[in-house]
Amino acid sequence: MKVVPCGGAKGVTGSCFLLETDELRILIDCGLFQGADELKNYQPFPFDPKSIDYLILTHAHVDHCGRIPLLVREGFRGKIISTRPTEKLSRLMLLDASKVMYENYKTALKKLQRTGKAPTPPLYEEYDVLEAMELFTIRLPYNEEFKLSRRVSLLLKDAGHILGSSYVYLKVYEGSKLKRILFSGDLGNKNKPIVKDPEPPEPADYVFIESTYGDRRHKSFEESKEELLQAINYALSRDGNVIIPSYALERAQEILYVLREFYEQGRLPRCSIYLDSPLAIAITKLFTSHPEFYDREAYKVFLEKNPFELPNLYYTKEVEESKAINSVSSGAIIIAGSGMLDGGRVLHHLKYNLWREECSLVFVGYQPRGTLGRKIIDGEEKVRIFGEEVAVRAKVYTINGFSSHADQEGLIDWLSHTGNPKRVFLVHGEEEKMKTFSRAIEERLGFRCSIPEPFSQIDL
Ligand SMILES: [Zn+2]
Repeated sequence: MKVVPCGGAKGVTGSCFLLETDELRILIDCGLFQGADELKNYQPFPFDPKSIDYLILTHAHVDHCGRIPLLVREGFRGKIISTRPTEKLSRLMLLDASKVMYENYKTALKKLQRTGKAPTPPLYEEYDVLEAMELFTIRLPYNEEFKLSRRVSLLLKDAGHILGSSYVYLKVYEGSKLKRILFSGDLGNKNKPIVKDPEPPEPADYVFIESTYGDRRHKSFEESKEELLQAINYALSRDGNVIIPSYALERAQEILYVLREFYEQGRLPRCSIYLDSPLAIAITKLFTSHPEFYDREAYKVFLEKNPFELPNLYYTKEVEESKAINSVSSGAIIIAGSGMLDGGRVLHHLKYNLWREECSLVFVGYQPRGTLGRKIIDGEEKVRIFGEEVAVRAKVYTINGFSSHADQEGLIDWLSHTGNPKRVFLVHGEEEKMKTFSRAIEERLGFRCSIPEPFSQIDL
């Protein structure tokens, strides 16, 4: 049996692992490469997509599911296995991804036409997404063993990362020998609203674990909520607006959930709240149809009301509605994408509010190097938005306890339940962080760790 990391090795995006047994060829995730690694999406798959029997999808973030339509376009006709929310969320995420790719292509085409060059075509189209959705044929609940073949069985367990997220536990018999393999997918941060905490895993022989925050500790979620309230009070008491760049999936719903709590506690100042993202609006609606995946607390709220609804909350789906927010100069909390400020409606809101010292800009997600968000956090006094110079005068808050990823403590705690694995493979992280994480695991748990190279063959 062997595993080949085809994405997500020594990198944080493009998650994709090929597992080959005597009987089956299985993929775990097939994510999009993003940011600096974007061009890797155009490299051919290092395997024949036609030969894959199953694709097990851990969750609906595009860095885990975003290349599935491409895989289907290249001939994959196997079965896709996931939880029900993962399937439905993937549909929304992939349709949105194909739309964004097409729009970027159209913009590039306009610019390049003048030079006589042709832009790279989109990776896939809406049609490919719809075809891919037809292959989501096996929906599994957590903790129900499913036989993939005579000698291979699968268990999905709750990863506590986003709604419906799972990690993968595979049992493979080779002769009379049993080998147990864990793929962590993305593991959640404890004590977050809506989702449960990650389930402790069962003992395993080999573990592939994500290392996004393997080198650091998050602030507690309670502290982060208070910081968010401070940021809101700062701007609203000065007749300014609050801008929250946010991911559409999970983060936007968490913010609404927390704002509703503030409102019910009588701590939210009078304001209008705008959820200014068609994708986030669709996802929020979908969240209310899967309360069975909530944690106990959120489920209790759900029995009485919609956990994401509060007075003066406006869903601005249409472009015209979004533009109308530009004339609101005070008393607004605006939640819009993209979370990394690399596009989307949030840029318009920044143009209208970033130069005003009575406003606040609240980062609730990681801002990688090179992004506009990072430049603002690093204290640049002026930035360019749509080719225009804008002064950074709003008060900038960076709140890290909203992260959907476990920190070092959370990852080590999860790993401590795996018994005594023969080998732990660190994946889905930046190399420097993985080295720190690897030392921490070896010191605290005594497990042997490796950091696999992309496309290396790992014999198990
Ligand atoms: Zn994720």
